Amino acid sequence: MISDRVAKGLLPIAVVMLTFSACTTAEPEAPALAAGAPDWWCDQLPREANIEFERVDVETDWFQVHRLGDGVFSLNEPNQFQEVISYLVVGEERALLFDTGLGMSPIRTVVEQLTSLPIVVLNSHTHFDHIGGNAEFDHILAFDSAYTRANQRGFPHQELAGEVAPEAFCNGAPDGLDTGSFHTRPWSPSGTVRDGDTLDLGGRVLKVLHVPGHTPDSLALIDRQNRLLWTGDTYYDATIWIYVPETDLDAYERSLDRLAALAPSVKRLLPAHNTVSADPANLVEASRAIRQVRSGEVSGEEQSNHRVVFRFQNFSFLTSRPLLEGKKGDPSAGGSGLTTWP
Ligand SMILES: [Zn+2]
Repeated sequence: MISDRVAKGLLPIAVVMLTFSACTTAEPEAPALAAGAPDWWCDQLPREANIEFERVDVETDWFQVHRLGDGVFSLNEPNQFQEVISYLVVGEERALLFDTGLGMSPIRTVVEQLTSLPIVVLNSHTHFDHIGGNAEFDHILAFDSAYTRANQRGFPHQELAGEVAPEAFCNGAPDGLDTGSFHTRPWSPSGTVRDGDTLDLGGRVLKVLHVPGHTPDSLALIDRQNRLLWTGDTYYDATIWIYVPETDLDAYERSLDRLAALAPSVKRLLPAHNTVSADPANLVEASRAIRQVRSGEVSGEEQSNHRVVFRFQNFSFLTSRPLLEGKKGDPSAGGSGLTTWP
């Protein structure tokens, strides 16, 4: 069954859809929302793929931390509907924090309970839900692009208000969060990375792969020694969002091909949403599926705001008509990941 990452940031739209097409809505969880229940994805928590990993007891009422082995921890935020996941990769001399989450609850105090080593931050890409805690850190590596630079300004409350609406949470907002003013803070990188760069954490080396498509600055990480591949938002076992103007489907298809070619050499994918582990074989399926979507071989379900969803066995693609018709947005303006086509 597809474990849906729900229509993030667009909960009110889901309500509208339900009002007008209650019998045909594609989202099985939607009726609960229409009935006023905020738990249409909460019922699926904790996700099965996550409970097989050891929970780490940390002082936080927001993050759920799992020890994945090989010196890797996942920091999940399951009680906000993005179900975003950041990862801490610990070497002998330093630790890499791959993404800093929603920024709705401090992440640095959690990370410092897991390691006393110096921390370097790198983002899988600069959509709002992956850079939320960047401003808490001094050492941030960033991909060097106009899109990334534009996103360093932070995202204002008006863009993120839907992300902190009551129905965006399972058990309410995190303690101390002012939902009336929530925004992400500006941040600045202390260095840049390029495709093929290696990050030596002492005793382990991660290689940076530039995999544009979902955004112009999307990165994957591979740990060849431990056979781990972090896929960011390029692949996860849920509804993959590839509909915003900064998404480039040509680039996305190439990037999926590149990652699919690595699938036989890794034992596990570590995606940025929903589950901390996914089968590498799903990448091969996804690279085939995106071609079927773009060639018109498979048909999707039209949704509001020009969006179209295409469902496959282990994942779905949520894309948009303008992108399928070959339109390109202007990535130099940045993008939170929540923009819609006019
Ligand atoms: Zn994203």
